[in-house]
Amino acid sequence: MADIKGNIKKVKSEMKDGVLLVAVTKTHSVEEINEAIDCGITDIGENKVQEIMDKYDSVKPVRWHMIGHLQTNKVKYIIDKVSLIHSVDSLKLAKEIDKRAAQHDKVMDVLIQVNAAHEESKWGIDPGETGTLINEILESCPNVRICGLMSVAPYADDPDEIRPFFAQVKKLYDEYGKIDHEMIDFKYLSMGMTHDYVTAMEEGSNLIRVGTAIFGARVY
Ligand SMILES: *Cc1c(COP(=O)(O)O)cnc(C)c1O
Repeated sequence: MADIKGNIKKVKSEMKDGVLLVAVTKTHSVEEINEAIDCGITDIGENKVQEIMDKYDSVKPVRWHMIGHLQTNKVKYIIDKVSLIHSVDSLKLAKEIDKRAAQHDKVMDVLIQVNAAHEESKWGIDPGETGTLINEILESCPNVRICGLMSVAPYADDPDEIRPFFAQVKKLYDEYGKIDHEMIDFKYLSMGMTHDYVTAMEEGSNLIRVGTAIFGARVY
């Protein structure tokens, strides 16, 4: 079993001030997750609605993050469980989140997922469409608050190769964070996973999503 406590300590020792660590718990057990929470983890990330549903009642109080692709018809299952949805990449999804949030009389915090790597990943919007999507959401989704951007970098053996990728998303973050609107509250630039979180922070990330470096390799 992974040394969860030691691993968290190591990751935290490498973190810059003001960066939020989201422990990515997909495939891991409730026992492992609760151990991480006992070691000071305040935020956990899952990429599947079903896993959130299965674990939700047994995990100690913590903030939940939806970090994976979210199907419109599943929004209703997690709207009252998660603090932040990282993976908004269409107006259709944002509208469904808005509708469900309104039913619960709440405002849902979301990030726009940007696919700066184009061909590498199926999810996320083209960087050039970021402004259009943000404006459409502001016009038609009063119960959705846009809190920043999220991106998944392509894998590279040498993280230096993906520096320009992170820099591009940071540039968009700085640009769109300037929009003056009550439902724009840019505070999270969600970039960086186990193999590239140090590079991501150097390029301006303030939220890292780390699974393997905390819990060890996933067994599917
Ligand atoms: C699984 C996952 C992570 C964590 O990956 P590790 O390499 O295990 O740190 C981060 N972000 C997303 C979107 C993921 O699906």
